[in-house]
Amino acid sequence: MQPSSFNRVNIDLTALRHNYNFLKKQAEEAEFLAMVKADGYGHGMVDCAHALAKAGCTVYGVAELPEAVYLRQSGISGEIYSMIGFDPADAHYFVEHRITPVVYDLASIEALSSAAEQQGRSIGVHLKVDTGMSRLGVQLHDIDNILNAIERAPGTHLAGIASHFPCADDAASATTQQCYDLFKEFQKHLPAGNEVVKHIANSGGTLYSPTTREDMVRCGISLYGYYPEGRNHIPEDGLRPVMSFTTRVVQVKTIPAGQGISYGHTYVTTKPTRLAVLPVGYEDGFSRKLSNCGEVLLHGRRAPVRGRVCMNLCMVDISEIDGVGVGDEAVLLGRQGEELITADEIAGWIGTISYEVLCMIGNNNQREYHN
Ligand SMILES: *Cc1c(COP(=O)(O)O)cnc(C)c1O
Repeated sequence: MQPSSFNRVNIDLTALRHNYNFLKKQAEEAEFLAMVKADGYGHGMVDCAHALAKAGCTVYGVAELPEAVYLRQSGISGEIYSMIGFDPADAHYFVEHRITPVVYDLASIEALSSAAEQQGRSIGVHLKVDTGMSRLGVQLHDIDNILNAIERAPGTHLAGIASHFPCADDAASATTQQCYDLFKEFQKHLPAGNEVVKHIANSGGTLYSPTTREDMVRCGISLYGYYPEGRNHIPEDGLRPVMSFTTRVVQVKTIPAGQGISYGHTYVTTKPTRLAVLPVGYEDGFSRKLSNCGEVLLHGRRAPVRGRVCMNLCMVDISEIDGVGVGDEAVLLGRQGEELITADEIAGWIGTISYEVLCMIGNNNQREYHN
């Protein structure tokens, strides 16, 4: 046995599978790629991928090659896409571990070609094109050049064409259709009769722009129970948040009126105040920006953060909540009684998006999986 932290990130694999089935249904005929980059958006890449595999998932996406190799070595046998490029010296790992490369330059095509040749194999590559994100991908004036290179390079063949939407979380944005139209322009350059996998839709595209789903959708945030635009209302039959975050009260005290709290005394009491000290701070992904503005749940009620969030501790006001004692559970993310704090609500307090909140909390704490 190991000593355990007061802080616990709980991962509800039943909710994950529910979201997967919900999104699969939404995606209809399209193949489904589960985005598990960033250690599964903080939920744990390996555990989530294996839970999804049991639910029928066969395609996964990560950012970098080391994540892909790690996922393969964990026993995932489906397709694994490495989305953001690689050091040409590492090209042989794609061949050895059957990782699907996403390419956007000549150097990586050449490197994959010689690695494939050396191992007497052929490797299918997905070409990333830039349809308006202005991030990774070749531009329209370069596509013939790069398609020729893939064609010419021994040991490589074109297996897919991919792009990414910048504004798909906004169902009303005209940008998504413009990007999609440009994606279609790119496709006109593909060799005739070349059946390749076309994919561009993220969660936003999948949920709000059904005509853009093409052959495969790539869902991340929605798999973990959040709507990409940050809609706070979670309908019971829709997506379900997968992560919750709890801690325990380590001390309770009453301080007098006129007393400052935490570093810098940025909060000074106006009346005698009852505080609960929580062993959670910015080191645990509970951002320092939550100082004097975040809330946590205790006994099913909301307790506001008072003063600055420290590295490993923070104080919440429990003057309005009776009977709080040492050892009581505090919920920082998730449900307690009738109350719910979502990653979108936390994101709103600190000026970010659910994605970042989930990564911060999930990747900085011990995780516990519930089936
Ligand atoms: C992260 C990512 C996705 C998934 O986006 P969500 O908004 O989380 O669904 C899809 N495609 C690419 C290229 C990505 O980087």
